[in-house]
Amino acid sequence: MAKLHFYYSAMNAGKSTTLLQSNYNYKERGMRTLLFITAIDTRYAPGVIHSRIGLTSEAHVFDKDFDLFEFVKEYIKTEKINCVLVDDAHFMTKEHVLQLARIVDELNIPTLAYGLRSDFMGEPFESSQYLLALAEELVEIKTICHCGRKATMNARIDKNGRIVQEGEQFEVGGNERYISLCRKHFMRGETSFSKQTSDKILQKAV
Ligand SMILES: [Zn+2]
Repeated sequence: MAKLHFYYSAMNAGKSTTLLQSNYNYKERGMRTLLFITAIDTRYAPGVIHSRIGLTSEAHVFDKDFDLFEFVKEYIKTEKINCVLVDDAHFMTKEHVLQLARIVDELNIPTLAYGLRSDFMGEPFESSQYLLALAEELVEIKTICHCGRKATMNARIDKNGRIVQEGEQFEVGGNERYISLCRKHFMRGETSFSKQTSDKILQKAV
């Protein structure tokens, strides 16, 4: 039976890398996949899933009015599909999540969505709430805060490394605009990866 999977994490934990690895695994076994990315993030190129370690793959771009279920339903009339993968799933709408559930339930295609749980204010993304509520499989992709604890929150920082507490939820910037933190440091606003701290960590690593 197909399932809806939600791979969630903080920023820079390797969501896109994990997505592209899963895609590769499917293809290696001779299976066919459909990749989607929201139209919001066009930092690299529209229709390209880009991971920080340099892997890329083309993907179908969709916006808020796009019906993922109808698209896949039409698509499989001519091509067999074994898996649907969605990057930046936190940029979806509630309707998109319901469409993914229909892809699983009515078309019997495993669907994997990759995204953040909460925004830079600590508020849950709309689509992530519904993914957490509706997905059968919840998988956390882990990363750590500068203190070594698990990072679960995302802080937005300005070019001087200072926390930004106002702005649009969907503002897209480079990965350097965000830092993943444990809840304690997020709540305290201790977001800046200070030079002192990074020097200490570098010394330890050497
Ligand atoms: Zn911390």
